[in-house]
Amino acid sequence: MANTDLFLGMAESEWFAMSPNERGRRLGAAGPEVRWRHNQALARRRGQKRLDALRASESRLSSAEWKSIVLEFHSRCAYCGTVSNHLTKDHMIPLSRGGDDTRSNVVPACEDCNYRKNNKMPLEFFAGVSLRRS
Ligand SMILES: [Zn+2]
Repeated sequence: MANTDLFLGMAESEWFAMSPNERGRRLGAAGPEVRWRHNQALARRRGQKRLDALRASESRLSSAEWKSIVLEFHSRCAYCGTVSNHLTKDHMIPLSRGGDDTRSNVVPACEDCNYRKNNKMPLEFFAGVSLRRS
């Protein structure tokens, strides 16, 4: 649904700049069907924002977890096996592609590998190479 439906043709900032009474008056004037669609759309947006907030709060990797991951990999890059004091967090599924900042999605990577991998999925980057845990 386009924003023009959601806010009766107005920009979101314009819409919320009006008083609740004024918004109610305009929705009333627009008729029950428009008001219903407006409320449905707002409810969906609120639901999505809750989901986003929940996801953000659950998906923070603590520094203790990160240290334990590095230990698990014996301070080696998960991809090339180089021992490094400058391991960076690599998200196997990039955050930009829906991955989480959680234990199950984070491995240590040396700066070279992290840089080269960039936003690729691991299978696009290292087809067939298994992660090295020892
Ligand atoms: Zn590496």
